[in-house]
Amino acid sequence: MNTTERSPLAIDAAAYRQDFPILSRQLREGVPLVYLDNAASTQRPQAVIDAMDACYEGYYANVHRGIHTLSEESTQKYEDARLRVAQFLSVANECELIFTAGTTAAINLVARSWGDANIKSGDVILTTMMEHHANIVPWQQLAQRTGCRVEFAPLTEDGRLCIESFDKRLSDLQPKLVALTAASNVLGTINPVAELVAKARDAGAVTLVDAAQAVPHAQVDVNQWDADFVTFSGHKVCGPTGIGVLHGKQQLLDAMPPFLGGGAMIHRVTTSGFEPAGLPEKFEAGTPAIAEAIGLAAAIDYVDSVGLDRIHAYELQLCTIAHEALQEIEGLHILGPDPKHKAGIVSFAIDGVHPHDISQWLDRRGIAVRAGHHCAMPLHELLQISASTRASFYFYNTPEEALQFAAAVRSARDKFN
Ligand code: PLP
Repeated sequence: MNTTERSPLAIDAAAYRQDFPILSRQLREGVPLVYLDNAASTQRPQAVIDAMDACYEGYYANVHRGIHTLSEESTQKYEDARLRVAQFLSVANECELIFTAGTTAAINLVARSWGDANIKSGDVILTTMMEHHANIVPWQQLAQRTGCRVEFAPLTEDGRLCIESFDKRLSDLQPKLVALTAASNVLGTINPVAELVAKARDAGAVTLVDAAQAVPHAQVDVNQWDADFVTFSGHKVCGPTGIGVLHGKQQLLDAMPPFLGGGAMIHRVTTSGFEPAGLPEKFEAGTPAIAEAIGLAAAIDYVDSVGLDRIHAYELQLCTIAHEALQEIEGLHILGPDPKHKAGIVSFAIDGVHPHDISQWLDRRGIAVRAGHHCAMPLHELLQISASTRASFYFYNTPEEALQFAAAVRSARDKFN
């Protein structure tokens, strides 16, 4: 279908593209960049680059330690960034927000700190078959340390969580922890987080939500989810690398031992021991990612100004365009459900064609997609494929790019099949 026949687009991408310097790049003479690898990492608008430059050029110093003007300014901006994240996620008490290096670091923090203190041999951790390795391996490592078991809730044929099986596992296994993704980084599937968390809580489990693929694509209100822990990464929401967030309920965080030891996380140290600092410092040992936290706040300002509801609606439009065009390609199988259940991701496999060949073919045409297992090997094993190709959209992508991508996939199929 011609894109002009569709309902009006929720976003005018052209208005935002000019804010992203990299999006005007030509990969080669006459080959403009079509960036469709946003689930791996988004690009940064000038406002984020400027905010970090302003920090380094104007007021950078280490935080929380110096009694001098620059340190006080840096500390203020760093703590303002925490307040901005709190407002973004509707967190009332900002000491419940821990800055981490990203989602992986946040989940490992919970596994090491809460996990080591609360999980014992024979306990069960329930996760799902659509998780990123970041929400599998830390629990498997915890199992190695404690003798607990990691169990996986199965999926439906169309790549959604099977709710009946999830319910059954909750009642049969009585897990101590339920750790699940809000949106799959391969299938794109958006999970009904509030419903799943409520069920897990009723079954007596602590809950962790990996929101790495949710926070960039829809408004998240942690109160509505009501999970014990929620994590996301800055670089997937137009922010810098090296910064992410762990939200934890204060009661749990207060009871947890610190994970990393060192400067900033202590109240007092003597030769015979230490007394940890309060929240959030207890979990922020060492010099934090100062400019990155400030860059994340700028990214949140930017994304908020675009509007998360509009972003969600627009990604549905782009996914629908891509789905319709790809569905016409013989031998191509789209992974995951209908676009209305998805967060900006379209992954697929083509009979007899390797995803690496497709990705290289697309790259020659300026189109950046991802090929491989996308850090979700158990899911690919379930799907009985070793790899897939993934296009992931953001609000600065256009319908023309979605169609250009689908046309290039068709030509790849013709070339390699
Ligand atoms: N969880 C999901 C669903 C992801 O998509 C990713 C990254 O792709 C991660 C966790 C890990 O994020 P990071 O590499 O920023 O720690």
